[in-house]
Amino acid sequence: MAWKTLDDMDLNGKRVLVRVDINVPVENGVVTDTTRIDRTVPTIKDILAKGGLPILLAHFGRPKGKPVAEMSLRITLPALEAALGQTVTFVETPNGDDLKSLPAGSVVLVENTRFTPMEEANDPKMAAFLASLGDIYCNDAFSAAHRAHASTEGVARLLPSCAGRLMQEELEALDKALGNPARPVVAVVGGAKVSTKLDLLGNLVGKVDHLVIGGGMANTFLAAQEIDVGKSLCEHDLADTARSILAKAKDAGCEIILPRDVVVAKEFKAGAANDTVAPDAVAADGMILDAGPQTVAYIAQVLDAAKTLIWNGPLGAFEIEPFDAATNAAAKQAAALTKAGKLVSVAGGGDTVAALNKAGAAPDFTYISTAGGAFLEWMEGKELPGVAALSQG
Ligand code: AMP
Repeated sequence: MAWKTLDDMDLNGKRVLVRVDINVPVENGVVTDTTRIDRTVPTIKDILAKGGLPILLAHFGRPKGKPVAEMSLRITLPALEAALGQTVTFVETPNGDDLKSLPAGSVVLVENTRFTPMEEANDPKMAAFLASLGDIYCNDAFSAAHRAHASTEGVARLLPSCAGRLMQEELEALDKALGNPARPVVAVVGGAKVSTKLDLLGNLVGKVDHLVIGGGMANTFLAAQEIDVGKSLCEHDLADTARSILAKAKDAGCEIILPRDVVVAKEFKAGAANDTVAPDAVAADGMILDAGPQTVAYIAQVLDAAKTLIWNGPLGAFEIEPFDAATNAAAKQAAALTKAGKLVSVAGGGDTVAALNKAGAAPDFTYISTAGGAFLEWMEGKELPGVAALSQG
């Protein structure tokens, strides 16, 4: 790959600017979930072990370019110190000379990069200032890599740069799933609406062998084929778009898998009375809320023969039982195949992570990305500025 890792850098005695994502949830001034902080620890410890001095850069919330007390990174300090098992020096306005005089073994956390409008504007003056504070730049914030900001992109162009461990892990997993995958590749794309996933579907049909379309968005594809989906969630105005995706898939030799049977209810409610019917037998007052067992059996057959799976979006209204059945069944099967060493499985996106956790399948997936926007842009085939900048130097 075009980017360097910590293994390629001589860090001894060097000040290493590390862009991390510690944008953690907070209630009443206390961090309620330390996952993001915990995941940066291997990178910080590696830098220390190699004799470097980590200077952490991060954003926190959306202060819109000015200091906001509730969005000070100071709030994260106790959790960060607990995760690292050492004290961390917090600096509000960093000064290169102060940082130079810190003893080896120190870790520095710099105040919220978004307290100035120069960060999100990717102002060259801010990038140059940040670059003056360090000798090496290390980006460990994949989840912020879809934004070209001073601390994610500008500074990377001014210093010798590398990926941190978390970024490296994420990029390697994503490369295995879509960059250079073992075939056949299956993509599962579900969720509420086609309109939010148009670029993603357009990119995937050119890259994968089978594309399972599920959830509310499958209804739009069914309706585009003159099937009456009753009161189901459906974007009728996107019928032409759906048809053009189907045509593009046909040209590319990608099999589109739509529901072969559907679970229908009259209300969007847990435990609602439901029927399983053919997609063209939905009553006028019926709502499709899940894929049926025949569909699940066919997806199972396709997964059995697959080498790679990439997944974004649930196959049904997974939050309300029993309409989580198709999502659970496919998730469990993918997890079992992965555990048996037969499948590389990569999934991402907020609802997807929740659905796979609910199915108890997440721990066995090869990689679960928590990167939200960056993961989706990567699935859409877009270049992520933070990753592209790493590839320069
Ligand atoms: P997304 O954020 O686009 O991944 O969509 C996830 C949401 O889609 C979840 O809240 C699901 O409940 C919802 N969803 C999935 N299938 C359906 C369906 N058939 N009808 C209505 N909502 C659905």
